[in-house]
Amino acid sequence: TETVRNDFIRQIVREDVANGKHAAIKTRFPPEPNGYLHIGHAKAICLDFGIAREFAGRCNLRLDDTNPAKEDPEYVVAIQDDVRWLGFEWNELRHASDYFEVFYLAAEKLIRQGDAFVCDLSAEDVRAYRGTLTEPGRNSPFRDRTVDENLDLFRRMRAGEFDDGARTLRARIDMASGNINLRDPALYRIKKVEHQNTGNAWPIYPMYDYAHSLSDACEGITHSLCTLEFEDHRPLYDWCVDRVDLAHSPELLKPLTDKGLPLEASKPRQIEFSRLNFNYLVMSKRKLLAMVNDGLVSGWDDPRMPTLQGIRRRGYTPSALRLMVDRVGISKQNSLLDISILEGALRDDLDAAAPRRMAVIDPLKLVLTNVPEGTEETLTFSNHPKDDAFGERSVPFSRELWIEREDFEEVPPKGFKRLTVGGDVRLRGAGIIRCDEVVKDADGAILELRCTLDPESRPGMEGANRKVKGTIHWVSAPHAVAAEIRLYDRLFVVADPDNDEGGKTYQDYLNPDSRRTVTGYVEPAAASANAEQSFQFERLGYFVADRKDHRSDAPVFNRSVTLRDTWAG
Ligand code: ATP
Ligand code: MG
Ligand code: MG
Repeated sequence: TETVRNDFIRQIVREDVANGKHAAIKTRFPPEPNGYLHIGHAKAICLDFGIAREFAGRCNLRLDDTNPAKEDPEYVVAIQDDVRWLGFEWNELRHASDYFEVFYLAAEKLIRQGDAFVCDLSAEDVRAYRGTLTEPGRNSPFRDRTVDENLDLFRRMRAGEFDDGARTLRARIDMASGNINLRDPALYRIKKVEHQNTGNAWPIYPMYDYAHSLSDACEGITHSLCTLEFEDHRPLYDWCVDRVDLAHSPELLKPLTDKGLPLEASKPRQIEFSRLNFNYLVMSKRKLLAMVNDGLVSGWDDPRMPTLQGIRRRGYTPSALRLMVDRVGISKQNSLLDISILEGALRDDLDAAAPRRMAVIDPLKLVLTNVPEGTEETLTFSNHPKDDAFGERSVPFSRELWIEREDFEEVPPKGFKRLTVGGDVRLRGAGIIRCDEVVKDADGAILELRCTLDPESRPGMEGANRKVKGTIHWVSAPHAVAAEIRLYDRLFVVADPDNDEGGKTYQDYLNPDSRRTVTGYVEPAAASANAEQSFQFERLGYFVADRKDHRSDAPVFNRSVTLRDTWAG
């Protein structure tokens, strides 16, 4: 079943295709390699790569590495891993730094056109001259330098003659513009910092808007999709694209053609959409980094983190994320979505995709006194109640079982449908049992239940149709494998932990029970799982074999999500 997506961006693209505006559609996903990708990025990835796929176009992965101080190659590797995990592949892997030479030539062109000037104002003075929302700015005293003077100074900036911050190259646009981004914004700054790709070749680095618009243009991007906070930057984006006009300036692209890259410069169109935000999550990279550094989580891939690495480890599937993105849709309306949308997509995805298994996470021993010692039976269970394609498996059954401690009550509350002393319950797929005796230790703690199995109630027998109130799950004690089970819950107890009101920070809202580790027992067919395999543990929830720590002889399962939305926050 192919989802039909028809948001406003796809409508624009569809029209452009119908009108023959572009030979082919080309998009890009441009993360800054200064942190790990998070759930929000999944929306941008699905949109950028998805549109390219749907319209038989191309999509580049471009690492927006214009800010050398903050970047780390570790992130570059993780970003690629995450995009592929989500099910997408880029046509070309590019770095904004691939285009530094083009940006430089373009800046000289702007200077020659009278569209850029070298400014000696300090950062503080630039701010003072900029004006406010209600007041126009003032022209820099350096605004009317001659072209020759500007070219000379800019070349000397590039040669490394001046100190950090001593000068900037600024666009010469309009200090009275109602849009502050157009008030002679900086295009280049001096920053003598080593860059991960270009080393010490450049003492000057381009500013974001300039580099981003020109990167799009020289890659031949047709539709440059970004989040709403860039809406106010679009006039500057267009100004850079138009004034530099890479599409008609092959001489500026010579550094690329020299490297054997095709000439495919374009006039890209920027289109903005709303960011994805969920309650109960913190998604800014800065805060996620702080959470890792403060030891609030075990790392970037802690299963409670909203990073793609984290939720992957938690057991989120790429298809669940793509389903979530489709359900949320694309619009220009910013909103804080309920986390149940994310969890619901995972439940629906795993309900269809995850085989069923039995596991007991709070074990209580149950002995079937009328089953002879040494009995070993093999029962056949279907792997999925709604889909025969999942096939069947063997489940061992014997005299000693583990059941869930909460499935037995000595003094049952009203309406309790599970096991009680003298009461009946159905053991899933095995028959009906009655509890005859509770064995306790000296302190009164329950050690085991002694029960009898109704021999006429085995699966397939007439007596199996006898009505009993409840059905419980179990595993065979001699066959089950002890497993570490990590019960994850929301990291924060309030819906809006990102709201720093009243001097509180997200650190004040941590859920002390967001991670609980217990030792349970799983049936052999769960223990033998591969890492990252997901199951529904019947009646308990969806669990995944931990990507890093799971071994068949020492299983580790993470709870991905409960069966129902039971959170009482
Ligand atoms: P953060 O503020 O978390 O650091 P960012 O926007 O700086 O995010 P980038 O690495 O620059 O992160 O993002 C790459 C792309 O992903 C951009 O096009 C950006 O608009 C998009 N993106 C980032 N966060 C979200 C989000 N929450 N929802 C949708 N798209 C997002
Ligand atoms: Mg960014
Ligand atoms: Mg950022």
